[in-house]
Amino acid sequence: MSIEEQLRDASEAIRELWANPAGTRERLASLRQRINQADHAQAARDGATGPEPPAPPLCPNCGLAGERRRTYTGHHVLLDPRLKVPAHLVPVGHRWYIDANGLAWNGGPDEPSPGAFCRIPHRLTCPGASVDGLEVGTWLATARKYNAALAQRETDGYPHSLSETR
Ligand SMILES: [Zn+2]
Repeated sequence: MSIEEQLRDASEAIRELWANPAGTRERLASLRQRINQADHAQAARDGATGPEPPAPPLCPNCGLAGERRRTYTGHHVLLDPRLKVPAHLVPVGHRWYIDANGLAWNGGPDEPSPGAFCRIPHRLTCPGASVDGLEVGTWLATARKYNAALAQRETDGYPHSLSETR
């Protein structure tokens, strides 16, 4: 079942509850489960598959730290902590924005507004993950090279910066 179908299914179930409240508790539990499944599917589709707290916000593929943000579905996405990119350069479905409450949301297939900047998931710049099927622009190739070097330094045990040697 697609995410849209699951959501339609859930709203249909809510309408039925209002129409006939018998056995509401059980029906609500089943509905909650279905909504959770839809949330999980949406989170996976958006790439909001970062490590959940209390696990540290480290990428399981390369070990680099990302910026972990909660999403509207209650899942977490690991964003690249450094990059803010003109949104029109970012492949559709990978444009993330942070709202006033610090929650991350995926711009989905919508055309970004002119001049908008967005964040990108660490997955795109992860040296341990492939970006097969994505058009990788020069900026993304550079960011991936940078992170590959960073991950290598981490593996070699070098400090990130001088301040960490104090
Ligand atoms: Zn990674």
